[in-house]
Amino acid sequence: MNATTAEIAIARRGLMLVLSSPSGAGKSTLAQLLLKEHPEIHLSVSVTTRERRPSEVDGIHYRFLTRERFERMRDSGDLLEWAEVHGNFYGTPREPVEEALQAGKDVLFDIDYQGTLQLYEKMRSDIVGVFILPPSAFELKTRLERRAEDASGVIEKRLKNARTEIAHWQEYDYVLVNQDLDVTFHALMNILAAERLRRERQLGLTPIIERLDQELVALTA
Ligand code: 5GP
Repeated sequence: MNATTAEIAIARRGLMLVLSSPSGAGKSTLAQLLLKEHPEIHLSVSVTTRERRPSEVDGIHYRFLTRERFERMRDSGDLLEWAEVHGNFYGTPREPVEEALQAGKDVLFDIDYQGTLQLYEKMRSDIVGVFILPPSAFELKTRLERRAEDASGVIEKRLKNARTEIAHWQEYDYVLVNQDLDVTFHALMNILAAERLRRERQLGLTPIIERLDQELVALTA
């Protein structure tokens, strides 16, 4: 008997792909490219108390909240993780992530090292942490300026905070130096492809192994 395609498509437990980097290293661009290539991935939309940038849409890039509403969500346990970054609060709403994972979907996160550490502590085996480095400090500054959506004081603050963020690179599973966007993007796709095939994420392997074994017994009898 030949195994059908349906039999071979093994159910898989969703993974949590976490991207972190200092602001301006290209993380958001990489996330957008990944979602375009893999529309089946669920993007976790964070809540934040930061002011909306002109190009941002409420509910798509972030859900923009007042500090009071943010604190209410945090205090009722509605956030999977949260942190203060560059003087604003950011957090991951719990429910959409849990629903997506239960449906076997992979979830993409664009969060800082503080949030990543909280997720590692809570859900270690589901996390694939990827840290993205800029090729140089000069490049980081240029990218922040090119974005031109933040005031110069904000850019300065983000450059100062970059040192703190980068100091946490060793806490991640993978590190990519984003010298060339295309190369980095393909590396990220390869990480995703390999992580999806991890033995412990592939549910339902046992019946396939058992059938193979029976077939081999029959063939060699
Ligand atoms: P930005 O203000 O440039 O959109 O984001 C600033 C930093 O906050 C980025 O490093 C981003 O990854 C991080 N961030 C965004 N959302 C979250 C979140 O929900 N939780 C945490 N811990 N960090 C976040």
